[in-house]
Order: sequence, then C-alpha cells, then structure tokens
Amino acid sequence: MSTETPKRIAILGFSLETNRFALPCGEQEFRDRGLFYGDEITKDARRPAPLIHGGICGFFKVMDAHAPWEPVPIVFANAHPNGPAEASFFNQLLDTMRDGLEKAGKLDGVYICEHGAGLAEGNDDPDGEVFALVRGIVGPDVPVIATLDLHANVSERMVSEPDVLISYITNPHVDKLERGEEAARCMIEMFNGVKPKMASIRLPLVGPSVTLLTAEGHPYGDLIRLGQTKLGPDIMNVSITGGFAYSDTDRNGMTITVTAREDQAKADALARDLAIAGWADRERYQTKMTSLDDCTRMALEVSKDANKPNLLFCDPADNPGGGGRGNTTYILKAFAEAGVENCIFAVFNDPALVERATAAGVGARFKATFNSEETNEFSLPFEADVTVERLSDGEFEGTLGMAKDRTIQIGRSCLLRLGGIQIIVISIRQQCLSNDFLAHFGLDAAAARVTVVKSRGHFRAGFQHIFPPDRIIEADVPGLSSNNLLTFQWKNLPRPVYPMDPETTWEPPAA
Ligand SMILES: [Zn+2]
Repeated sequence: MSTETPKRIAILGFSLETNRFALPCGEQEFRDRGLFYGDEITKDARRPAPLIHGGICGFFKVMDAHAPWEPVPIVFANAHPNGPAEASFFNQLLDTMRDGLEKAGKLDGVYICEHGAGLAEGNDDPDGEVFALVRGIVGPDVPVIATLDLHANVSERMVSEPDVLISYITNPHVDKLERGEEAARCMIEMFNGVKPKMASIRLPLVGPSVTLLTAEGHPYGDLIRLGQTKLGPDIMNVSITGGFAYSDTDRNGMTITVTAREDQAKADALARDLAIAGWADRERYQTKMTSLDDCTRMALEVSKDANKPNLLFCDPADNPGGGGRGNTTYILKAFAEAGVENCIFAVFNDPALVERATAAGVGARFKATFNSEETNEFSLPFEADVTVERLSDGEFEGTLGMAKDRTIQIGRSCLLRLGGIQIIVISIRQQCLSNDFLAHFGLDAAAARVTVVKSRGHFRAGFQHIFPPDRIIEADVPGLSSNNLLTFQWKNLPRPVYPMDPETTWEPPAA
C-alpha cells in the first residue's frame, strides 16, 4: 500500500475537429456527442461502454491501477467534426476551465484531452488557447500533458505550453484509450522526476485525408512506424500529426513532435531525421478516387451478379467525421436511378425525414423529401417514394472498430426502403463507424451486395472483417470534405504546400 499523498490531477479538454467551410456549432452540437461537467467526467470514464472520449478512459484506467489519486474533473466538451465553435460557447468553456482550475486548490498535474484541429469564431488557435490558459494558472512546475488527435494542426503554442504532447498513431483511430494510458504513464514518470524536452517540425505537406491511413503500404503509416522504432530510454514519445486540411489555418501541415526524457538535443535530432524521411516520401500522398459513373457501373454489376464479391463504397467528401453534413444525395440518387439492388446505405443524416417516417409508422409508404430543411449547397433535395421498415430510439453498444465497447447515440432514426436500397436515416449527424450501425437495424453488410458509407476512412476498422482494402471504393463526388483540395478557396493555409503545389520545396533545419 502506497503511503504517498494522493496526486490531484485536473482533467479537462476541448475536442472539435473544425472544417472552416462548415457552419459554426454551439452547445447543442457538443451535447450531441458529449459535454461533461465535473463529476460527470469521472462517472462516465469509469463505466462500462462509456460515451466519453477514450483518452480520458485510458488516463483513468492507468491512474486507478497505479496508486491512490484524486481526479479533479473540470469540463470536457466533445463534438462531432463541424464548423468553428460559436464564440459564446467557447468563451464560456474557457471560463469554466479557468474557474475550475483556480478553485481546484493545489494541483499535481493536468491532463488535457484535446483534438487539436479546432477553430472557434474569431479564434484560429483555440487549442493553443486552452493549453496557455492551463499553464498560466498552474505555473511552470506542474506537469501538463495533452493528447491530440492524429489530425491535429499543431501550433507553436500547442508545443510550448504543455510538457508532453501525445497524438494517436492509428487511423482509423483505434488507439485513443492507449494514448490516454500513455499520458498517465508519462505523468507518473514526471512525478518521479523526469523533465521532458520537446522538439517539433512542421512540413509543408498537407496530405488529402484519404492518403493519411496508417495501415501497411501507406506512406503516413510507414513514417509513424519508423518513429515508433525510436522509442526507448532517451525518447519518450514520437507524435506525427497528419493535420486536417479543412481547418484552413496557418498551422496546417504534417508535424513531427518528439519528446525526449532529458536531452533536448536528442529530441531535436530525431524530429529532424523524421521530417527529412517524411519529406523524401511526399510523392506517395496521392489519391486514387473513382468517378461516380464508374462507381454506379460497378455497383450495378455486383448487385446483379451474386458470383462477384460484394463491394463497399465510401463517400469521403460528405464525411460527418470531417465536417460534412452526411446528407448529400449524389451517390444515393445515381444508385437509385440506375436500379442498384440489395444495397445498404449507411447512414444518412436527416432529422426532419426521421420525424416524417416516425409519424407515418412502420409499413407506411410515402413520398420522402431528403434534405427538406437543409441549406448547405452540396446537400441537394431528392424526392423518392419510400417504405418505412424500422424505427429506433438510436442507442446501442458497439462491438467493432472504433465503436467497440462504446455507447453509440445516433438519435431517433429509421430504416427506409427505396426500391432495392435500404437507407438508415439518423438525427445525430455522424459517420458510420462499423457494421454495428447496420446490425442495430437487423442488417449485415456481409449479406448485402453493395454497402455505401458516408465516411472517409474510420469505417475501415469496423468493416475490415468483411471488406479487404481492394473491395473498398472511394467515390469522387463533391462535398465539404472533398479530397480534391484544389477545389477549395483557401485563405489561411500556407502555400505552397505539397501535393497541391508540386513545386513546393523544404529544407531541414540546421543539424
Ligand atoms: Zn482524426
């Protein structure tokens, strides 16, 4: 039994991946995914199938197992990727953080669970703002450790304020829990006297989101794996964030951040070596998208021929996990008009349509208008006769990929039939993470000829038991999270950047 005084550790965070081209989001959007105050954090983090971010669960897991400690939970705000946080909400959140930290009494550490690609209205570096606020209150001697999403856009402030930055190393992100555990272990090392030193280098490399997978055969995964081979007594952490282009900030660009246990020179040298390796491999960050016409032809072929292996089509351009509205109709309309059969479309975001179907009831047939209340330019209305097959209150526990062992809330939802296509319609905008979303409606992608998901890549972890990579087709249609980066009107993203500007050059810092 340990006799040391329990460590008092504050827990807080702001987690929003911001697509600058999407509309601002406020408190309701954070409530939709998870807005936790005070003890609500502790309660949810310690329950089975939690709702709260895996990083916080992992931090609690290690701390709970290590020694008596006293969590000082303050606030954690997590939204599905969206536009900038409304200024009023973000400022209120900062006030809650400031107030909580000031009233906390003596703290021994702070864990920040942050996304790192945030924007707030009028604030292009809200993540750096949170980090600076924390450091300003606790002072230079209290360990401050933050975890980041792999898609974080890392600012200078985000490196200079905390002691350690830890980003995910998997995409799809199946290591959130492990990174939270790592944050706790690093904090314990700091309690035992380690004084980490960080080095960070940003490359002018903004990979289209579909090129940032970490599986074998992908350049980004290769670079992350190279970084992981350098961990040891000297090097505590290597975090290589691919960034999130659609934030459109001056901090966009792949960033290599190395934390050494004692020696700044070792962190500097390794960050430089990895940046050189990453830059040398830049030409592999190319997309291989398939036109809508080709997708439709392929879907029709497999839906008519049971001897052909079934296919999964994904829509990276309307990915709610990248700020998309989850409701464009390009693929749905093309597949419906072509007569694609035995097809599951998962999931379509349209609260108004769910209300209409709920009022009509199971078995009812009516003329549905998709996007009757949506104003986004990409989310065109589409009318079709549908039958209501199922209704749901929209809560289930996941078993696969990023949904595994987590409570998923999709809001009131329904299953509609449009000819040979079954469409799952939801009312809390999000991407389809796994076959669990289908199973909740009695469906199985393995039994369908064609599955369509509105997701860039996180679905891969939740469908990999059915679809090997060569049976996943990335459809090239318009949208808020299109991988055709040259179609956006960038205002802040530094140019030139590779691969948008093939002439981009970069020189490593002096050794
Ligand atoms: Zn991410």
